[in-house]
Amino acid sequence: MSAVPLRNDKAAASGVRRVTVLGATGSIGDSTMDLLRAAPERYQVEALTANTNVDGLVKLAMEFRARFVAVADESRLGELRAALAGTGIESGAGDSAIIEAAQRQSDWLMAAVSGAAGLKPALAAVDRGATIALANKECLVCAGDFFMQRAAQSGACILPADSEHNALFQALGSGNREELTRVIITASGGPFRTWAAADIEQATLEQALKHPNWSMGQKITIDSASMMNKGLEVIEAAYLFALSPDQIDVLVHPQSIIHGMVEFRDFSVMAQLGSPDMRTPIAHCLGWPDRIPGRAAPLDLAKVGTLTFETPDYARFPGLKLAFDALRTGNGVTTVYNAANEIAVAAFIAQKIRFGAIARLVEATMNDWVRAGNLAPLSSADDAIAIDHRAREMAATLLPQIAAKAF
Ligand code: NDP
Repeated sequence: MSAVPLRNDKAAASGVRRVTVLGATGSIGDSTMDLLRAAPERYQVEALTANTNVDGLVKLAMEFRARFVAVADESRLGELRAALAGTGIESGAGDSAIIEAAQRQSDWLMAAVSGAAGLKPALAAVDRGATIALANKECLVCAGDFFMQRAAQSGACILPADSEHNALFQALGSGNREELTRVIITASGGPFRTWAAADIEQATLEQALKHPNWSMGQKITIDSASMMNKGLEVIEAAYLFALSPDQIDVLVHPQSIIHGMVEFRDFSVMAQLGSPDMRTPIAHCLGWPDRIPGRAAPLDLAKVGTLTFETPDYARFPGLKLAFDALRTGNGVTTVYNAANEIAVAAFIAQKIRFGAIARLVEATMNDWVRAGNLAPLSSADDAIAIDHRAREMAATLLPQIAAKAF
């Protein structure tokens, strides 16, 4: 049985729900807390976590009367305990404390830690059979097969929180899994959608951070500009919904109003639409299997006026094509794709490489990885983390020669 429910096959949730937010101080965390804030009588906050942001975490813990809070950075424990003294809120620090937050009983958990650090805590929630709104892409990109198998074994319920996957999740509900022919993930095309390849090559950080529609963190905004983010989403979709690469299409849709579509065998296409605001997919996950009041601006299609669509250009955005290659090769290469991209984006932010070199570094790392014969299926979180580390080292080694190459 799939860990992603295909229909509203659970009894409607009633009474006060205990919720946990991993990554509460981030962008997704912020949207989640905004939804909880709108209906305080409906939710009891069990646990909240952050990496280093003690001030932000303490503020949220006090406001929501959380039972337990944790920071990943162990050196912040004293500061955290001092700020919470006399409140009765339990606290912890270090990776084990983040895992404890995930293990504590709750009715619903948001997995929104950024990066590969989100994998182990999400798995801890999976192993207790939790209902998990999954925002962290790396769980699926780095360990997709294995993550979904563990979820199916434990009876965990995975609710896709990323907007495109949430759209597919909603659209899939109107048919049966066997009736699906393909899914279509939309992409805004980012700030460089209409730029010539030579200009994309030289794009600055400031230009890459100007996303036309979505307001998000720095890393994911740069990934949107390179379309690597869409690549990560293609991989996510494949693992979440057990799809082959041939069943996944990407469609550039600059207005970001349609987030995803599902085509069934009668060629009916079901789409989910909404204003580009992460609070809508998160509200869907938080309310599931019911619908709760949203917090985004209602969609005004007359005001939007026109919805347009384009085929993605793999020549100008090679990072997207590499995601399909990584998926087809499998055996840990999607982990390599993600790791190399993280190294490349950090190097671009540090002005060590040009924007166009991001995809070249990812491609060179994937090629070297395959050439070295490193292919093997993943069977544990430690496997995924080991590949992630080795791929980062390989990308860092290749970085100087990629940076030096003239284009
Ligand atoms: P942010 O960088 O805004 O927030 C990340 C959160 O994780 C913060 O609470 C941060 O704490 C915490 N964190 C960071 N590193 C660690 C660590 N090593 N251990 C424990 N906690 C850590 O990220 P986003 O909210 O933008 O994204 C979160 C995830 O959701 C990512 O995987 C992203 O790809 C995905 N996503 C994001 C979307 C968006 O619109 N932003 C859309 C769809 C998916 P602190 O504040 O202390 O640094």
